Parts: sequence; structure tokens; C-alpha cells
Amino acid sequence: MKKFNIPEWAYEFHGHKCPFMPIGFRMGKLAMEKLGVSQSLNHEMHVFSEMGIAHPQGCMQDGIMASTGATFGKGMIEKLYYGKVAATFWYPSKGAVRIFLKNEFADKLTPHEFFKYRKQGVEPSEIPEDVRQDIINMVLIASEKELFTVKMLPDFDYKPVKGSFLKSKCEQCGEYVFERYLRVREGKKVCIPCSEHNNSEVTMPRPK
Ligand SMILES: [Zn+2]
Ligand SMILES: [Zn+2]
Repeated sequence: MKKFNIPEWAYEFHGHKCPFMPIGFRMGKLAMEKLGVSQSLNHEMHVFSEMGIAHPQGCMQDGIMASTGATFGKGMIEKLYYGKVAATFWYPSKGAVRIFLKNEFADKLTPHEFFKYRKQGVEPSEIPEDVRQDIINMVLIASEKELFTVKMLPDFDYKPVKGSFLKSKCEQCGEYVFERYLRVREGKKVCIPCSEHNNSEVTMPRPK
């Protein structure tokens, strides 16, 4: 049986061994294959992850970043908050592809002992190594057909925001701000925190 190989550094980057980082890694690899591209060195691949917040499956996004090079830091991955294990990958002049983790494969993973620990609140790094390796192996030996629904999106249109080096000083706190984020308050160009607070207020995130 052919076993997919995940480089050790990807696990190190992610921090623990779980099944979803490898799922994302494989998603990214498959997307690059479908679009005929290799790992992005700069600002090529854009990823629209359908993940929301607080799902354990969110780990897949670290796998996607690791394999495609479309990282958070480079501003190449965005979240759509649909709560699905899916993502659309867009590469300039190559097109776009959406990859979804099949329900059948998700159902195959669900009864695994790994999730019994997770549901008791045990963090992945605290789960016995053999349990983790076993569920990861399920991901590594699965075929692409077993794992994913793949759909090419010929009509997908996207215009990335142009990169900008333009910055100015906030007229209140004096800190540099990229111009896109300057606001006008009482005739002064100010940063967002200064636009929302008076001088007398402590500039801190307000509790919700
Ligand atoms: Zn994880
Ligand atoms: Zn300011």
C-alpha cells in the first residue's frame, strides 16, 4: 500500500501529531497538482479556507500552509467561516479548485479511539503515541479518491488587493500606520485605536 509522506518539519511547525494537519497537507498537495504549480515562494497561491472557529479540524489549515506556502504571514490564506473541512485554492493564470473532505472519510475517522480522548478534553499531544500514529496512518494510506471531492472552478474570479508600502504617522499617537488603515477624526488622520478612543481612555481591546 502506498503511504503518503509528510515531512517531519510540518509536524514540528504544527506542534503536535494529529490527523487533520496531514489532511490539510494532502489537500494542498492535491490542489497544486490539479493547478499544475509548485509550492508558492511569494504571493502566488491564495487559499480560502471554509473553516470556522473552534473546530479541531482547523488543524488542517496548518497543513495547507505547510504544503502550499500560502501562509497567514504572507497574507495568502483567508477563512470563510462556513464550518466545513474544505478550501478553495486559486493561483493566478492557472485557475481555482475546491477540495472537500468526503463525509464518508470523516465518518470513517469518527469512531477512532483518538476522538474518545478528544471528547474527554484530552489535547492531541497528550494522547498515546500509538493511537495518534494509527489515525494518522489512516490518512496517509487513503487514496485521494477516498479522501476528497475535487472540483475545478473555471469561473472563479478573484482580484487580490494590491500590496502597498504607503504608510503615514498617526497624528495622535505618532505610530506608523499603513494608509489603508488611517481614519479621519476631527480633521486628523489617525490610526484605528486612536479613532475609537479619547486621550483619557486606556487603549485596550474592549471586552465583548
Ligand atoms: Zn492538530
Ligand atoms: Zn494612533
